[in-house]
Amino acid sequence: MSSIQTTAALDELLPDEPLAKAPDTAQIKESDEPFDPPAYVYKSKFTEFLWKLPQPVIALTSMIAVAIAITSEAMSPKALGEGADLLTAFLLFSPLLLLLAAERVWTKKKAWLLNWKDYAEDIFWIFTAAYIWIPLISDYYRTPISDAFEWIRENTFVPITLEATTIPGLILCAVVAQTAAEFIYYWIHRCSHRYMIAWRTHATHHHITKMSAMRSNRTHPTEFLALSFSTPIILALFGATPEVIAVSAALGFCNGWITHSNLPMRSSIWNWFFTSPEHHQLHHSHDFNDSNTNFGCGIIIWDRLFGTFSSSSYIERCGSGTGKQLSLFEQYALALYPDDKIKSL
Ligand SMILES: [Zn+2]
Ligand SMILES: [Zn+2]
Repeated sequence: MSSIQTTAALDELLPDEPLAKAPDTAQIKESDEPFDPPAYVYKSKFTEFLWKLPQPVIALTSMIAVAIAITSEAMSPKALGEGADLLTAFLLFSPLLLLLAAERVWTKKKAWLLNWKDYAEDIFWIFTAAYIWIPLISDYYRTPISDAFEWIRENTFVPITLEATTIPGLILCAVVAQTAAEFIYYWIHRCSHRYMIAWRTHATHHHITKMSAMRSNRTHPTEFLALSFSTPIILALFGATPEVIAVSAALGFCNGWITHSNLPMRSSIWNWFFTSPEHHQLHHSHDFNDSNTNFGCGIIIWDRLFGTFSSSSYIERCGSGTGKQLSLFEQYALALYPDDKIKSL
């Protein structure tokens, strides 16, 4: 078991028993998977230093690229015509492709390496999220929830408007928007681990048994409803412009892919504020107590402030309940299962 920094208040909040039962170890047959040490060991101090760099470089590059595309007239949708969609897709997905290639070369845990069946299933999850669930839900949230918060903003004392025309300004506004949105998401996520009714939407994401950049979108459609709740509130309340929303989305996608990646990134400065893959791997741990830490998927500062942060790097395996990978059908159907059946998975 790892050392966990929890407050007395958190201990009171934690359920008396795991939402998903611990497995009967006698029933788990010995795995053929390669053995990896529970805590990653860097080959040298220099290697450890080098792994501090990719996360800030990828996140900042992605935000800067989107900000340049927005502020540059030569790259505007008008100038690019049909090429604009291609550019958006490239800017959005190139960090993912880079991370997937890196996972094959600098694998953190060999047991988590995806096979072709895993890739095919993950592509299915990404495409259904990108083309069905997220568009459906963002349409739903556009009204009346956003309108209600816009009304609050216009009729109360909140004078903040997140808008910028320069690249550093857009990046700063995007980080502020993400941090505020993650404050709401932090509490939704924490409740998902505390209450069965919310856990049934979140359980699908925790039944992944391998970490990979591909896995951030393995999310049940009902959970997208909860996840998407924070962003429109903050954007409407803070009056964020479409430009700020675009850069903020680039940061959000990048954070999701990086924190799920099977790579040994760890940066003491960047990860004081932004979630590291190690923080989120611990949240996906099969160990019940470890999985009740690090609820911030992109911004870790709220965990630090509310006492749910853990810096442990000790993770034997990830997954929930029995720790077995569920079928595609079960991953969708489990949200409708009775409580006992969800606990037995
Ligand atoms: Zn969770
Ligand atoms: Zn996750």
